[in-house]
Amino acid sequence: MKNPFSLRRRANLARPWRWLVPLLLVLLFLAVLFWLPWQARQMESNERQEQLIADTLWVEQTLRFELTRSEEALATLGADLVGKPPAADVLQARMAQLFKNGPELHRLLWLGRNGELLARHGADLPQGAPPPALADTEEMARLTRAGRYTESYGAGAHQTGMLDYYLPLYRDGVYAGSLMATYSLKVLLDETVPWWFAQDNALALLDRNDVAVATRADGGPGRGVYTHRRALDLPGASIVLATDSVKGAPRLLPNLLVGSVIVLALGLLLSLSTLWRHISRTLAAESALRQQMAFRTAMENSLMTGLRARDLEGRVTYVNKAFCEIVGLPPEELLGRKPPMPYWAPEVRGDYEERFAGVLAGTITPQFETVFQRSDGVRVPVLVFEAPLRDSRGEQTGWMSSILDITDRKKAEELNRQQQEKLETSARLATMGEISSMLAHELNQPLAAISSYTAGALNVLERADKGVPIEPTMLRRALEQARQQAQRAGQIIKSVHEFVKKSEPQRETVAIHDVVEGVRALIDLQARKSYVALQIDLPAVLPPVLADRVMLEQVLLNLTRNGIEAMAAVPPERRVLRITAGADAAQVAVSVIDRGHGIASDVAERLFSPFFSTKAEGMGMGLSICRTAIEFHGGTLNHAPNPGGGTVFTFSLPRPASTAAAAAELK
Ligand code: ADP
Repeated sequence: MKNPFSLRRRANLARPWRWLVPLLLVLLFLAVLFWLPWQARQMESNERQEQLIADTLWVEQTLRFELTRSEEALATLGADLVGKPPAADVLQARMAQLFKNGPELHRLLWLGRNGELLARHGADLPQGAPPPALADTEEMARLTRAGRYTESYGAGAHQTGMLDYYLPLYRDGVYAGSLMATYSLKVLLDETVPWWFAQDNALALLDRNDVAVATRADGGPGRGVYTHRRALDLPGASIVLATDSVKGAPRLLPNLLVGSVIVLALGLLLSLSTLWRHISRTLAAESALRQQMAFRTAMENSLMTGLRARDLEGRVTYVNKAFCEIVGLPPEELLGRKPPMPYWAPEVRGDYEERFAGVLAGTITPQFETVFQRSDGVRVPVLVFEAPLRDSRGEQTGWMSSILDITDRKKAEELNRQQQEKLETSARLATMGEISSMLAHELNQPLAAISSYTAGALNVLERADKGVPIEPTMLRRALEQARQQAQRAGQIIKSVHEFVKKSEPQRETVAIHDVVEGVRALIDLQARKSYVALQIDLPAVLPPVLADRVMLEQVLLNLTRNGIEAMAAVPPERRVLRITAGADAAQVAVSVIDRGHGIASDVAERLFSPFFSTKAEGMGMGLSICRTAIEFHGGTLNHAPNPGGGTVFTFSLPRPASTAAAAAELK
């Protein structure tokens, strides 16, 4: 078996990883998502730069080519001039041709060996000045015997940049003059650089001080983002071609790709957070559900009550552990089964079938007692509660029953009943002892009377033997009295016998006065022995009751005896026992009032229990018998503290219907 603790720990450990991996993947995805457009922008930028470099190179080549072509034309002209100088007009025509082929040519001078101007074409020399002295250039050119450029000049606000080209001429190796061409750099740019390039890029030719001598910017000034510089590589002159694209760096934000990436990323984050919230909620709900399930299962398993659910067709859909234990069958033998069920006891099958028909008809007995037959054949008395089972929409889907095994209760009830019977029997036996002693008292009186009446009768007869005439009246009276006393004794015995038998009492209409009178002598006797004053306060008229008179006399005797005994310890002047009575429309009540020690609350609780006594020689049966006797008559026996000290015991008996009706009529 797996240790649940280690399982839980593993689950806890796995939890961070469960989130970390998707989180890392999402972060990676987002990084790639943002890196891609950046990379695209970078590539675009590089591509533009490379394009500019290539274009700049091409333009430089074009400029260089143009100047080289011009150099070659000048060299051809120079060779002709030192060989066989043409006529002046031919020379001018050739020069004009040169200017036509190369519009960048600004001026062309032919100088003699001493620097004198031999011919000129193009622009005039400024203010008729002599040809510029280009000492350094001339010297270098003559040394190398090759054409050479001067540094460019004319930089400044107007950028009328010019460049001179000095070509020394030799005849048979002897210096024979020179040709000097002046180029307009602005024209060179305008004429040589194609329009599409000038449209996209600002061009500038820079002198050696990095100052622009000529510029061209058809499409506006450059942005300074994509730039390139390229030296023109002319002998003697250091001119740099600088290009600056009018295009700025590719913008990131308006980019469609970036836009969609951002939207995608936001959408992804949003859906992830929604998903996360949803998962958290689901997990929380799941955990709550699991807890509830565990709680419910524990609760169901701990229940002593059997639970059974049935669908509307009576098929068992659920049983709990307690139910399985009650019927002694495993759940798999019960689930899905329809009646007749294996736990139906054959002797009550009719009841089951009747009730099941009710279930199918949609009516149930909410609570009933029945018997189930356990798998081992033992009968189990059960109490069944049934209620409709409803789903979450409130529609009835079946019936739910809870089943209580009441075997123990039944056993206890049976035991209780047997106990009670035994108790009653022993109580009656115990009472018999007490009652017999009372009978002795009761019977003592009639027996003594019988004895004296029969003795009197015998006397009369003895005197007759001696010749005294018989007085028949006296003899009859004595015998009549003896008969009456014998009858009374018989009655006492009969009523006690019936009481002990617990059969229906011989009820007769009894006047309370007669009951009191019947036992008065006995009470008096006991009262006198205990120095108790007896007060009998009965209203002149009291409705009769239907009762066994002798039994009522016994009750009265018991109550008065208890009252007298309760006053044993109080001063003799306080020892007063009162008997009062009263009646209302429904009942007649008799009270025995003493001024004794009263009843403590712990005693009061057990007062009527059989064999409960606080007296050294008490049997504890008196009050129990009294209550049984009074309840036997449909009455009640109660007690209350006497306001003047002591206790009041009152028994009430219902008035017979006829006298009650009469009383009601009187009112
Ligand atoms: P017994 O008299 O044999 O003790 P009873 O059943 O008649 O048995 O009375 C039970 C107990 O109730 C008595 O022991 C006594 O403590 C109490 N008791 C009964 N009557 C009175 C009374 N009038 N005043 C005080 N205590 C009483």
